[in-house]
Amino acid sequence: MIIVMENGASDAQIEGVVKKIKEFGLDANVSRGTERTVIGAIGDERKLDQEMIDALPGVENSMHIVKPYKIVAREWHKENTVIDIKGVPLGGKQIQIIAGPCSVETQDQMEQSAKFVKAAGCRLMRGGAFKPRTSPYAFQGKGVEGLDLFRKAADAQGLPIVTELMDVRMLDTFLEYKVDVIQIGTRNMQNFDLLKEVGKISTPVILKRGMSATISEWLMAAEYIAAGGNHNIIFCERGIRTYETYYRNVLDVTAIPVLKKETHLPVIVDPSHAGGKAWMVPALSRAAIAAGADGLLVEMHPKPCEAWCDADQALDPNELKQLMGELAGIAQVIGRSI
Ligand code: PEP
Ligand code: MN
Repeated sequence: MIIVMENGASDAQIEGVVKKIKEFGLDANVSRGTERTVIGAIGDERKLDQEMIDALPGVENSMHIVKPYKIVAREWHKENTVIDIKGVPLGGKQIQIIAGPCSVETQDQMEQSAKFVKAAGCRLMRGGAFKPRTSPYAFQGKGVEGLDLFRKAADAQGLPIVTELMDVRMLDTFLEYKVDVIQIGTRNMQNFDLLKEVGKISTPVILKRGMSATISEWLMAAEYIAAGGNHNIIFCERGIRTYETYYRNVLDVTAIPVLKKETHLPVIVDPSHAGGKAWMVPALSRAAIAAGADGLLVEMHPKPCEAWCDADQALDPNELKQLMGELAGIAQVIGRSI
């Protein structure tokens, strides 16, 4: 960290800053210029809180030199991390399309969904048993029964399952049902207690971007999980809130190359919650893969108009199949496969 002192800062004020730096176990290098004194803090500067330093008498401003995130940063881990999801690699050359309904509804709906997901060539399946709904009167998900329906339907097709964990009290149940990938939704990206708990296990976690989260906040949220010991983290861009009302959210395609630069962990995209309409999903999916996403999380329902949740944005089975074909073409052009 570099600390710039005010013009005319006294020796006592400079000493005060040096003392504070040393209290945190770091060394200080004082450089006296003609107008300003600059102090360099040497050591693990993540221990120093910028607000605390800025509040010291005589300090004009301070800046961190290293990034606040460490385990998730590409700076310290140059190679792409490939996460093994029951034998399915995510983050490598092969792109993974995770498809399935917004929510688990019935055994028949899940069985049909699983068949269509498999037939389209996808290797992983999504489906929500616990749904974060804006209205408390809307369908809240099937809960534990939904996990059971999902597990059975997906197992019959040999598909690992991706499902959202909203409440830390359900974690043991998720482990009992051997959920293959735990999804942390946009509304929980900064639920730090939840992040800490999934950090203690080794199940891969899809961390969706908070709908108004900055890249840095998102990376720090992932760092919470990583700091607990779970390094199996997958970032998922799902659209952010802006002034635009034509579509549900704005898919931030820019975030894909930026995250691929900042982190070694896989980055996937949810085009369904971004656009909010099924007709937008193919275009957004193509853009995401072309921009370097390692996979997609797509909503598909056997009969979209009968879906209990997010009916408007679900692809039908044929649309999913067609999309897979289009994405295979893009993957080939950029030296990847589907
Ligand atoms: C979902 O994927 O089912 C979901 C609720 O997504 P998000 O958290 O991105 O809104
Ligand atoms: Mn949904």
